[in-house]
Amino acid sequence: MISGKVDPWQKPTLRQILQRGEKFAVAVELVTSRGVIAERSGQRVLDLARSLSSHPEIDAMSITDNPGGNAMLGADVLGTDLISRGQEVIIHLACKDWNRNAIQSRGWELASAGFHNVLALSGDCPVSGFEGQASGVFDIDSVGLLKMFDDMNKGLKYPSRISDKMLTMKRTNFFLGTVVNNYKRYEREVMPQYFKLAKKLESGAGFVINQLGYDSRKLDELQRYMALKEMDVPVLANVYILSGRAAQFFHDGGFPGCFVNDTLFDLSQKHARSPDKGKSFFFEFAAKQVAIAKGLGFAGVYLGGHLNADEFARVLEIEKQFSADDWKTFARQIQYGHTDEFHYFEQDRKTSLTSNQVNRYYLASKTADGQKQARQQISLDYKLNRLVHNQVFKKGTKGFNAGRRISLKILDSSVGMQKIAHRMEHALKILSFDCRDCGDCSLPDIAYLCPESQCAKNQRNGPCGGTRKGKCEVGEKDCIWARAYDRLKAYGEEEQMLDRPVVYKNGALQGTSAWTNTFLERDHHSKNS
Ligand code: SF4
Repeated sequence: MISGKVDPWQKPTLRQILQRGEKFAVAVELVTSRGVIAERSGQRVLDLARSLSSHPEIDAMSITDNPGGNAMLGADVLGTDLISRGQEVIIHLACKDWNRNAIQSRGWELASAGFHNVLALSGDCPVSGFEGQASGVFDIDSVGLLKMFDDMNKGLKYPSRISDKMLTMKRTNFFLGTVVNNYKRYEREVMPQYFKLAKKLESGAGFVINQLGYDSRKLDELQRYMALKEMDVPVLANVYILSGRAAQFFHDGGFPGCFVNDTLFDLSQKHARSPDKGKSFFFEFAAKQVAIAKGLGFAGVYLGGHLNADEFARVLEIEKQFSADDWKTFARQIQYGHTDEFHYFEQDRKTSLTSNQVNRYYLASKTADGQKQARQQISLDYKLNRLVHNQVFKKGTKGFNAGRRISLKILDSSVGMQKIAHRMEHALKILSFDCRDCGDCSLPDIAYLCPESQCAKNQRNGPCGGTRKGKCEVGEKDCIWARAYDRLKAYGEEEQMLDRPVVYKNGALQGTSAWTNTFLERDHHSKNS
């Protein structure tokens, strides 16, 4: 049984723990059940949550939002029970099932109910639903969600009904978290993940949880990269406690963005065949990961897995039995990455972790020679689109001014003429980009790749974490952000790929001329300086 119970009312908030840095934080992920809380599975999760909340070392319960794209009981049901007991709760909020209005409304509801910690996610594509698969919403993404809630924290402005003054709403007090997937395989996946992390922090994220993974070198790399780029935000290292089944699931790509390599898979299956189903191995393995996270200087850990409360406690107990420097040996052992994996830093031969030397091949690829070579691989249509964009769609150019004049003339013409012009534009863009006529075009933001037709989650502010070997988590297409990275890198522009105000697609522009909207500055590009 869990021993050393404390009165949960004495617990400091997650924000206090992470910002003061006095304690190594421990959060545990709770996956809600299907059906009402009175179901046996619901009661099991509730009992688990209550038991964990009385553990003196566990600082927060993190409650998922329809994980894996399935309908589950809403996080608030469990969360309300926990906060009424003084427990810190992180509510996951994903964009897959809600549009921006519903998310904002959820935000006010959560703030009013006393929830402060929100983990902003784009979410997994729905995979099931009542009478057929649900459609993903993805009206905004995790970056858009962070910025919206950050603005709510600052006090949203709204016009007065009786004067021309702007009024300010009461501020919310969200402590916003975000996720980064640092266990990607290729440079074209890893680097956009890092760029998006920077964008998320700029948009209001106050803490970070990384994706689950089993590679200490990559964990170290995340920490060092963030230090190098002065991303001074606490990070919780994800420690998902494996079982034979979980290892199989991740190994087979069952959960987008989660990865177990062949070696770890074989090891897991071997131990899963033992009389205790490998529990002693898996718990010690997880305890070693906790020790590594501590040793590397992470702010805390984020524990997950299908365990009961005593088993979570057991992992923490095992970790305490290690000596201060044991983590260095564990870090050498737990390096289950991809064989041909990209690393931003060179390896430190002494520690087997990360040195401060940036990857020499990566640096060479960024020189003028490297870019010249890369440009030879770039398709002609991209080069042509760049040319047209720079001559015509860039504000201040002669082409842009002409486009503006033509757009005004079209607007002055008959409805029939406007329709013909729009249809011609759309036909051309269908042929070139598989355009879906959203009217608020992000082609220039994503190296002329359309997020509406080629991204399952319509990600307009960087890639989601679900790619596998550079492919989209849905189907077999290359991720548009990985492709955009390749294209931009050939011109030395990849590091600026997200340097613009957060993109929110304007739904009011659907089915209207994107060209006219750009020339008349009605779309999101008008916010670019
Ligand atoms: S207008 Fe919208 S749908 Fe069409 S290419 Fe641009 S982003 Fe895609």
